Amino acid sequence: MKYIDLHCDALTNEGVLQVTSENLRRGGCLLQCFAAFVDVRKCSPAGRFAQAVSLCEKFDAMCKREGYRPVRKFSEIEEGSLNAMLTVEEGGAIEGSLEKLEALFLRGVRMMTLTWNFENEIGAPNANAFGAPTQTQTGLTAFGKTAVERMKELGMLADVSHGSDRLVRDVAKIMKHTPFVASHSNAREVFPHPRNLGDGEIRRIADSGGVIGLNFFDGFLSAEKSAAGQKAALIAHAEHLIKVGGENVLALGSDFDGIPENPYLKNPACMPRFIEALQKKFGTRIAEKICRTNALRVLSALE
Ligand SMILES: [Zn+2]
Repeated sequence: MKYIDLHCDALTNEGVLQVTSENLRRGGCLLQCFAAFVDVRKCSPAGRFAQAVSLCEKFDAMCKREGYRPVRKFSEIEEGSLNAMLTVEEGGAIEGSLEKLEALFLRGVRMMTLTWNFENEIGAPNANAFGAPTQTQTGLTAFGKTAVERMKELGMLADVSHGSDRLVRDVAKIMKHTPFVASHSNAREVFPHPRNLGDGEIRRIADSGGVIGLNFFDGFLSAEKSAAGQKAALIAHAEHLIKVGGENVLALGSDFDGIPENPYLKNPACMPRFIEALQKKFGTRIAEKICRTNALRVLSALE
């Protein structure tokens, strides 16, 4: 069974990559989203947009080099190809400017993670860079509301991973029945990390028709770090997300290359063992929804 992964950091990882064309092909990837992650610790406030654009150029070069098929919409996805979609992680990339948001859309960006680990012009995260439980009650700013409305009009997915609970509520109010996503987030009820989603947030995303991409970072999954413990935790998070949000809410958002090697799922080549575990636990029909159908439904809504 082929799968779709809504988030990886291969564009900005300087080390040995987990996401390589060989690993994606071995794993059976249909579509990989590649995040142009703008690290606000490493660039000046006025250099964030330029950094995003240079990562967009890196994406184009990578697609050519690795033989990925760059796609901007659902109807461009080819079953026999390794499809790649460009996203942005860190809404500070648009530097508080709707023109820059539109420029990124024209450049091919089809999803943007509104916040990363620090507050920006759009809104606030749930946890600081080190995962301390500094839950903030700040949601979207006035500019953030305008930006999300514009994303809705353009057909760029709003991604609330990293966002505060309040931010998820604010986005849900704007989106109503237009899908929005948490591209790489797990369930707080299963493991109490502030980067994980509360049940209320899971329901809000599900109510919009959106999806939540299961994240493979051991730090968000479980204190039990063995391969078996991580496998059990991935299944437990999946089960909870489905219990709370329904079978249409779950997708995959590995976070490969943004996270240390998970002992159970070291890289995309390991995906078949996880897909098999999903089939065993949930049956083939639901496993297929998790691996591809739910994400495809959200992408098709962008057209
Ligand atoms: Zn992230």
